[in-house]
Amino acid sequence: MSEAKTIPFDQREGKIWLDGQFVEWKSAKIHVLTHGLHYASCVYEGERVYRGQVFKLHAHTDRLFRSAELLDFVLPYAKEQLEAATQQLLAENKITEGYVRPVAWRGSEMISTSARNNRIHVAIACWQWPSYFDPAARMAGITMQTALWRRPPPSASPFEAKASAHYMIATLSKHQSENNGFHDALMLDWRGYVAEATSANVFFIKDRVLHTPVPDCFLNGITRQTVIALARQLSYEVIERTILPQELGDFDECFITGTAAEVTPVRQIDDYHYKPAQVCQELIAAYSAAVLNQT
Ligand code: PMP
Repeated sequence: MSEAKTIPFDQREGKIWLDGQFVEWKSAKIHVLTHGLHYASCVYEGERVYRGQVFKLHAHTDRLFRSAELLDFVLPYAKEQLEAATQQLLAENKITEGYVRPVAWRGSEMISTSARNNRIHVAIACWQWPSYFDPAARMAGITMQTALWRRPPPSASPFEAKASAHYMIATLSKHQSENNGFHDALMLDWRGYVAEATSANVFFIKDRVLHTPVPDCFLNGITRQTVIALARQLSYEVIERTILPQELGDFDECFITGTAAEVTPVRQIDDYHYKPAQVCQELIAAYSAAVLNQT
């Protein structure tokens, strides 16, 4: 979020949709005794806006509702209501190329692990955040370092939920990587298999075949699914399988996918180097075309 980094997110101008109302950005506040803050009963989405439209809006809305259900709460709005509010908010804030952050959390009625009486709050914020389609800059690639923290087993947390609780180890891992001069962290899962980046999925390429981990304990990203479909349309073979860290030296290219990351090549993981090349280039082009055509 480089362009926006200088202004803190609670001090911007515009409107935020909060519990059914469009409120002034700076007055969209919560109380310090909020269940979502203390007990992480909070789910959210990250959506990208291209030419005034959210890409894959229904998929994101469905995931928001599913995430809430997995945390044992129900959003007090219809999907259509939230989608209409998003569209109105984009118009209100004049966002054509940007990012949308819907978030839902338990309020303050109970501060204990039990939260049966807590009101469910929902907010939607959005801000200008153009995508950088400059393929040359993108093709330089990012660097990643294997994290010490691991994605927990499915029995330890509802991994299909895009829940704020899951991001504690992501932030710790990202900081560790940044402290060591890398852009992002590659997270392994509890078995020691390659899982994903801190907020994106990962793909590897060998001899024009794509290999990506099975999303059995981490988010099966909407971008991941889109890119798999695009790759298959381009006649690439895509294999979802267990990938071991010992294999990291075997691949030619590597990239990550996510709503924010889009398709971002990786040039290094730990001591292994990759050369972002034709496969990355073709998939960046295909993804750029898909988002602009909203296909
Ligand atoms: N994994 C994690 C942990 C993420 O935060 C994200 C971003 N939402 C992804 C994967 C990619 O998901 P999507 O493509 O749906 O943005």
